[in-house]
Amino acid sequence: MAPSERRTGVGVDEFLTGGRLRRITRWGEPVMHAPTEPVTVFDEELHTLIRDMFTTMAESHGVGLAATQVGVGKALFVYDCPDADEIYRQGVVCNPVLSLPDGSERNFESAEEGCLSLPGAYQPLARPDFAVVTGQDAYGQPIRVEGTGLLARCLQHETDHLGGTVFGDRLSGRLRRKLYAQAQELAHLYPDDWPLSPKATSAVDKPASSPSA
Ligand SMILES: [Zn+2]
Repeated sequence: MAPSERRTGVGVDEFLTGGRLRRITRWGEPVMHAPTEPVTVFDEELHTLIRDMFTTMAESHGVGLAATQVGVGKALFVYDCPDADEIYRQGVVCNPVLSLPDGSERNFESAEEGCLSLPGAYQPLARPDFAVVTGQDAYGQPIRVEGTGLLARCLQHETDHLGGTVFGDRLSGRLRRKLYAQAQELAHLYPDDWPLSPKATSAVDKPASSPSA
């Protein structure tokens, strides 16, 4: 892998702090289930949104966050996520296009997946263990992100969001029912405007060992 494809957070440092916390939208809200509009203007308004998304993702302990998850129907996501080498990588991708390995090159890995828009619930989902996203950075410059490990999963999960797909759509009926039952059980911990209002604490709450995006 070329060094330029292994860069870590180049160009996003300015967006990692100083944002405003926003409410996270939930599955069932229309913006979560519709395709997004492309980003065409790379201005201060976009940069404010990106900054707010990084702050909201950090506050909610997520590894990725799509614009639809803060109620904005635009095609961009942010991530702060470890790859297969446990190296945390941060970035923003506007207008992402996902590429997955073909045929015999494709290895599926099953792991628990969670979504900040269905907080607290996790189910195993098999996804390719390598993914590439191309798109544009915060200034409209072309970028390419290669993901292994959890980052590969995150890139797929976030690109799905921008097409109006949530990971529950990819589960079997049985696992989807389990997922919803789990979310229902923990719903009282998450105020409707979470994370603006903090999560309640509970003795039965699952430790935050599984990441959400
Ligand atoms: Zn999600």
